[in-house]
Amino acid sequence: MRSTISRRHLCLGLAGSTGAVQASAGIARTASGYTDPRKVLLWESTRKEVRELLEAGQLKAMIVPTASTEQHNEHLAMIHDTASVTLVAQQAALRLYPRVMVTTPVAIGISPHWMDRKGTLSLRKETFLNVVYDVCESLKTHGVKNILVLNGHGGNEAPLREAIPEFRSKLGVNLQFDSYWAAYTPEIVKKYMESGVVPGHSAEFETSFAMAAFPERVHWEGVDYEKVKPRLGIKDPESRRQDEQFAREAKLATTAKGEAMIAVAVEWTTARLERIIAGG
Ligand SMILES: [Zn+2]
Repeated sequence: MRSTISRRHLCLGLAGSTGAVQASAGIARTASGYTDPRKVLLWESTRKEVRELLEAGQLKAMIVPTASTEQHNEHLAMIHDTASVTLVAQQAALRLYPRVMVTTPVAIGISPHWMDRKGTLSLRKETFLNVVYDVCESLKTHGVKNILVLNGHGGNEAPLREAIPEFRSKLGVNLQFDSYWAAYTPEIVKKYMESGVVPGHSAEFETSFAMAAFPERVHWEGVDYEKVKPRLGIKDPESRRQDEQFAREAKLATTAKGEAMIAVAVEWTTARLERIIAGG
């Protein structure tokens, strides 16, 4: 079952509280046997569980997912970026259990560019970076020596890439950074994405991801883009054009494309963590 991720299992990403049905359906096989997906999620663990892993020297690395709560066009839930990166992190951690755990995601990011679309929450750059730093410092305090900040929102990428080297030297731990879509080579994008766009925004890629991982967060019911377009209030003409393009390209999404893209991201993240644990 290591290579086959069940649909229910994928649903657990940000929904660890949805109960025993998903947890029991999402048992993954690892070298050490079967693993409850809850086990790799820091926020679902007890202090006893975390302490024992640290004391035994088994816990080698932690993933800090960073993302956003922001508009995702007319049909995707605001939590999409956070749910998707957390899911990739969880699946990679399960493959490496008990060596890797996932922290509570930083679920609000830097999204000022979407503030003219209702519902978006945005942090100032320094606020966001301070939160990420404090989470990493908390991990260091507990003795975690390897940390991967795994990002799932475009607006966070440049600020994090710039700040991480300074965080690394201040904290004195092996702190690494990437957005999970670094997994996608031009060949992969060409193979699976008809639009050729990754990550894009709420378009073919993200909609496919959601259909595969958490279809309950895809809401096409009552969506009529053409009708609502004049009332969206998007000020920038280029942004307006792109919003329309992404709404159109979202229709190219399929569950199968999402499953293929998720598998690539999980495999890539797992390999990245293995290198980090080895000191890379
Ligand atoms: Zn997104």
